Amino acid sequence: MAYKITEECISCGACEPECPNQAISEGETTYKIDPDRCTECVGAHAKSKCAEVCPVDACVPDPARKEDKAALLAKWRKLHPGEEPAAGTY
Ligand code: SF4
Ligand code: SF4
Repeated sequence: MAYKITEECISCGACEPECPNQAISEGETTYKIDPDRCTECVGAHAKSKCAEVCPVDACVPDPARKEDKAALLAKWRKLHPGEEPAAGTY
């Protein structure tokens, strides 16, 4: 399930460089996540990095975008052709 950023975001920018898929960018009022690039960190990390670093817990799973691990891994493979996912992340 892709993550999303809520209105709690204070635009500190901490999450953006942590995303292994370049899914996070600065929006007009808050930072935002491109759901087509968010793999819930499957393929790179055991836990969602954005949620880990956000000081106000604004990075949360988006229930409107349910995906299982297989779908998230397939998304990761599309974004990283020729690479292998990190062990223990999928
Ligand atoms: S959960 Fe991971 S892949 Fe998704 S936006 Fe956050 S850091 Fe990026
Ligand atoms: S880390 Fe949290 S508060 Fe900072 S920009 Fe990202 S979502 Fe917003």
